[in-house]
Amino acid sequence: MQAFEYRTPKTVKEVQQDLKQFGSDAKLIAGGTALVIMMKQRLVRPACLVSLRAVRGLNGIAEKNGGIAIGGGTTHRAVEGSSLVKRRLPVLAETYHHVATVRVRNMATVGGGLAHADPNQDPPPTLIALGASVKAASADGSRTIPLEDFFTDYYETVLKPEEIITELYVPRLPANSGAAYLKFLPRTADDYATVSAAAVVTLDKSKKSFADVRIALGSVGTTPIRAREAEAVLRGQPVKAEALVEAGEKAKQAVDPISDFRGSAAYKKEMAGVFVRRALTKALEGLVKLPKSAPKGKR
Ligand SMILES: Cc1cc2nc3c(=O)[nH]c(=O)nc-3n(C[C@H](O)[C@H](O)[C@H](O)COP(=O)(O)OP(=O)(O)OC[C@H]3O[C@@H](n4cnc5c(N)ncnc54)[C@H](O)[C@@H]3O)c2cc1C
Repeated sequence: MQAFEYRTPKTVKEVQQDLKQFGSDAKLIAGGTALVIMMKQRLVRPACLVSLRAVRGLNGIAEKNGGIAIGGGTTHRAVEGSSLVKRRLPVLAETYHHVATVRVRNMATVGGGLAHADPNQDPPPTLIALGASVKAASADGSRTIPLEDFFTDYYETVLKPEEIITELYVPRLPANSGAAYLKFLPRTADDYATVSAAAVVTLDKSKKSFADVRIALGSVGTTPIRAREAEAVLRGQPVKAEALVEAGEKAKQAVDPISDFRGSAAYKKEMAGVFVRRALTKALEGLVKLPKSAPKGKR
């Protein structure tokens, strides 16, 4: 690792001054769990690290406009253990619980995780399905970016180098909604997903039809993917097991995984369909009793 300067600003304004001084030679560091590995591998060689750990106002989880606002510097472990999150959006606590190990989650931050933008990470599919957004601040002010528009490629986002994720906002779920995140882990419990799927379903007042559905997947492309055609199969339709099978089939068409040590591309594509169907089924649990009429071998 090459030598670098280490700055410990106390305010967002001071962070921005440090970033301005070093320009593209500066890198933000939060938990350091991803960045330090990249530095050791010489994939990035910053002349200055600007630490976010002492910056005031970046930590915390609070109710805001009916939803939940999470500071960009909040750790995964804090989200996973938050009583507010567990009560209002248990799927979010469960998703952050799926990340790596306690050791990693104690250090890794919400903002650092999203800015890292590895398509195998757990939180993005759930956050996209929940309609979450981030607030990115720079010296020019701040902007809100929906997470489904945030990821552009492997380890690439729409963030500008001078922008800091100060907040993650997750809106309240409408009435008659359920949500689920499933991570397919055929190797070890602390591995990245072979395939992951998140589903958020909202039923109409009679709880007989889908009013809205949002589905997102991880580990199946260069970014997390929203499966819009799979959603369209269900929206406005009666709740039936066959419809979930059809949505799973559509989700398979939306994904473009690569073959690697976690499975072949063809296997991951197949599993994408299976896990979307299972995530939809789990999201419906507690809302409606699903008739067990799916064709044999398709459950
Ligand atoms: C052993 C191991 C196993 C893992 N397994 C999983 C897993 O199973 N599932 C999973 O989802 N993830 C997994 N991860 C990845 C983990 O989620 C990320 O390393 C972590 O979320 C990064 O957060 P951080 O705060 O440590 O970021 P850092 O390493 O500090 O920074 C990462 C990047 O984000 C930038 N950055 C940091 N904070 C901000 C901010 N507020 N605004 C803008 N840019 C910022 C940095 O400049 C850097 O480019 C694993 C990591 C390790 C080391």
